[in-house]
Amino acid sequence: MGQAHDVIIAGAGIAGATLALSLARAGLTPVLIDPVVFDDQLAPTFDGRASAIAYAAYRQWRALGLTDALDSHAQRIEQILVSDGKTPGASAGGPGPFFLRFDSAEIADRSEGEPLGYLLENRHIRPALAQAVKAAGIEVLAPARVARARFGRTAEVTLADGRVLTAPLAVGAEGRGSVIRTEAGIGTVGWDYPQTGVVATVRMERPHEGVAHEYFLPGGPFAILPLTDNRASLVWTESTVRGAALKTARPEMFQAHLERRFGDFSGAVTVEGPIFTYPLSLQLAERLVAPRVALLGDAAHGVHPIAGQGLNLGLKGAAALAQVLVDAGRLGEDIGSEAVLERYAAWRRFDTVTLSAGMDAFVRLFSNDNPLLRLARGAGMAAVNRIGPARRFFMHEAGGAVGDLPRLLRGEAL
Ligand SMILES: Cc1cc2nc3c(=O)[nH]c(=O)nc-3n(C[C@H](O)[C@H](O)[C@H](O)COP(=O)(O)OP(=O)(O)OC[C@H]3O[C@@H](n4cnc5c(N)ncnc54)[C@H](O)[C@@H]3O)c2cc1C
Repeated sequence: MGQAHDVIIAGAGIAGATLALSLARAGLTPVLIDPVVFDDQLAPTFDGRASAIAYAAYRQWRALGLTDALDSHAQRIEQILVSDGKTPGASAGGPGPFFLRFDSAEIADRSEGEPLGYLLENRHIRPALAQAVKAAGIEVLAPARVARARFGRTAEVTLADGRVLTAPLAVGAEGRGSVIRTEAGIGTVGWDYPQTGVVATVRMERPHEGVAHEYFLPGGPFAILPLTDNRASLVWTESTVRGAALKTARPEMFQAHLERRFGDFSGAVTVEGPIFTYPLSLQLAERLVAPRVALLGDAAHGVHPIAGQGLNLGLKGAAALAQVLVDAGRLGEDIGSEAVLERYAAWRRFDTVTLSAGMDAFVRLFSNDNPLLRLARGAGMAAVNRIGPARRFFMHEAGGAVGDLPRLLRGEAL
């Protein structure tokens, strides 16, 4: 094609790096650009989150050869217990009266024995990707920041230091503040939630046995997500004001709040490491593509972490985009053309919009204490819990294994 790179990927986060690796494994030449060098992304204070990775999304990393680095850090999620209650845990005599239980054994026939998903700390995902990107010889420009872009016969991307790159396609994977998206004239819709995600890692006294808990409390959901070594990652959604207070609370105050919410079902819990807070919002790009532009990950869709689906959507998008580009390249098509990019948009549009809207409805329905709504959602949960096929539907949906799956999500090479 007469250019040094086939695809310019702005943003070397988890979505951008996964796409780069998928393309390089199939013979295309991507370049990654990020203001943060990989080594800084690996610092323990850089990203305190753990991600629930759907089992189909994990297959993609397996197909890309990452699991040697990831398997020992991946905690299998065998059960998910969702319950609606003011006080979680045994202090309320166990989960509230309305609950949903999802069990990996129920879908073992179709998931080849895989769990419902895996819990992985982002600080383990990032080095595994960084190592693989390096070993694959992918060019990484970091620290470097995309400042401007123009799209015509090629995508022309100008970095803040004045360097100019051209390629048939530029991918915006720079998260919610995507410069590529803005430069392509793609608008967004969305709103801020008056909530903050407080994230902490705790060690538990009693074995968690791979059970994830999600409690719907009036301030927002409180999730206890099992990690390796009998630890758990907490995603504790609170009003913005209470979230800020928790972040700066003295350790003994934080511990007291924690114990009130945890109850004593897991024995003593001890906080390990710093407390992180993340503002929460919904942000959807009006389009996923434009001529010579594709959006990926949070640049395309930033959702509430209520069901741990944000990164999973980005990973599904990476698998679909990589397949569309690789197949088009093999047929000699122009990979930045509208005809090719529309295949990616058509593949991902429906899933992205329905999931984002679903998460938003969930947040509204569950983050409040209205007695009528409590009754309605309790009845809904009890009904789904009684109906085996409905439970299995939700499990496959959350596992990312429904619909027309890209080859990487089936665990196959491109
Ligand atoms: C509390 C919390 C818990 C979550 N838990 C889960 C979960 O359990 N499961 C799940 O699936 N999802 C979860 N998510 C969502 C998930 O974390 C995000 O969807 C995911 O991190 C997005 O990845 P990304 O690579 O698209 O974007 P980002 O992680 O935002 O990466 C963007 C990259 O672009 C770079 N960049 C920025 N500006 C520029 C520029 N101008 N030029 C070049 N590069 C640039 C940045 O430095 C960064 O490296 C959670 C989110 C929160 C807040």
